[in-house]
Amino acid sequence: MIEVGLTGCIGSGKSTVAVALAERGAVLLDADAIVAQLQQPGQPVLDAMVAHFGPSILRPDGHLDRQATAGIVFEDPQELAALNAIVHPAVRAEMAERRQALSGGDAIVVAEIPLLAEAGPDRRRGLAGIIVVDVDPDVAVRRLVVDRGLTEAEARARLARQASRAERLALADFVIDNNGTHRELADQVARCWEWLESLEHPLSGGETAR
Ligand code: ATP
Repeated sequence: MIEVGLTGCIGSGKSTVAVALAERGAVLLDADAIVAQLQQPGQPVLDAMVAHFGPSILRPDGHLDRQATAGIVFEDPQELAALNAIVHPAVRAEMAERRQALSGGDAIVVAEIPLLAEAGPDRRRGLAGIIVVDVDPDVAVRRLVVDRGLTEAEARARLARQASRAERLALADFVIDNNGTHRELADQVARCWEWLESLEHPLSGGETAR
């Protein structure tokens, strides 16, 4: 298998691209989705969170109250570290298990990593390449306002907290331009899939080249 990272600013279209690549055969690895899964009722991660933060982080139906949790960790770095100490190792273990299950095969794995450009120098580790979904910040803001109901000020503030467009583009091995229509995006995704299929798979541990 090979794994590529998929990144882009907030509202750039990462999830839209990920779904389109999955339709072509990519296997998606989405850390946020794994976190959500590990925090379902009955999961050891949620039990450990309740043991640490108390039952106020649960809604009456037993599901995690994300806003209540955010309220606790947002202002308190120690509590944020405690949360990360519970969640991160479990996510890493789950990702490793999924990678292990795919290793030796010819899967094209796409890992959605929103903050790849903000990560440290070893951000390329394990990745055969990086796809950047590029969008003009004004276009992203417009979509976030129209589709997500953010105010323009909120959308701009969130974008300002992320890496710049240029910083992200500097990392790209493949750029998907998402300034156009959904139709134009579909054409870009088709080209991206061709590129992904052209990447060489490593010959290790009994893997065979594609
Ligand atoms: P986030 O960082 O918030 O998770 P994202 O990068 O995953 O966002 P999406 O959720 O895929 O972005 O897209 C953001 C919004 O823009 C969605 O409502 C999506 O339907 C819309 N969108 C994506 N691409 C296009 C396009 N080419 N034309 C119009 N709308 C688009």
